Amino acid sequence: MIRKKEFLKFIGKAIIRMNINVLTIFPEIFEILNSGVISKAMKKDILSIKPLDIRKNATNKHKNVDSKPYGGGEGMVIMAEPLIKTIKSIDKRKLGPVIYMSPQGQLLTHKKVISLSKLKNMTVICGRYEGIDQRVIDNYVDEEVSIGDFILSGGEYAAICLIDAISRHLPGTLGNKDSYLKDTFSNGLLKEDVYAKPEIFDSNKVPEILLSGNHEKINAWKSEMSLLKTFKKRPDLLKKIKLTKKQKKLLEEWSSKAIL
Ligand code: SAH
Repeated sequence: MIRKKEFLKFIGKAIIRMNINVLTIFPEIFEILNSGVISKAMKKDILSIKPLDIRKNATNKHKNVDSKPYGGGEGMVIMAEPLIKTIKSIDKRKLGPVIYMSPQGQLLTHKKVISLSKLKNMTVICGRYEGIDQRVIDNYVDEEVSIGDFILSGGEYAAICLIDAISRHLPGTLGNKDSYLKDTFSNGLLKEDVYAKPEIFDSNKVPEILLSGNHEKINAWKSEMSLLKTFKKRPDLLKKIKLTKKQKKLLEEWSSKAIL
């Protein structure tokens, strides 16, 4: 008997690797995902993104999804009922962990993106206004994720960042399958400087070594440049990785010269 996986491969259709449900009051914002890398992943059936309009599950006749906060204070808060009804409308097998995009969550990192990219299903809640009713967070949310220590006007922009970052790690999304493995953070360092055509621009030349055709030397240059950039711009990252003897030596040299 042919298994479903084999059959889909046989007819040339990729198996959906990841399904992401997104709860939002502005589903149209996600139309932005219809271009670029994510759209290709969706067309190739690697990724499926389902924006779900919370307002469709509003319970009053004016279709309100927000109310003033109890106890007073600024702004409005998204009510629990339409959110929970929307969560419950999702097929349990396609729900996955429920993530609330929130400035109060754990900061998103490369490591976190990789671990999330291994999921088959995921549900993302986008807040608005002053946020969402705490009872949704307490009873339905598995994790709160922040994209930085600043406040956005809506969780949609944070969700798009998260989805974009995840999609790069789904096999088949990127043209060059290894390109994400050489990105900044993948080995704990910043990626080396990169140059495009022409060789000389505004009398600035591309580093000679990159034109040499000697791949061994080019790779050595790339590794050293990557370490130097990290040393100058993000020395904090160097504390998180295991350095080789050669790297330690270079860092000592640069520190003593105080290259800045
Ligand atoms: N009043 C809230 C902020 C609400 S901002 C507070 O002080 O904590 C409105 C919505 O934008 C939030 O519900 C959240 O979904 C989203 N949001 C804002 N900043 C974010 C961030 N840094 N990361 C992820 N989501 C964020």
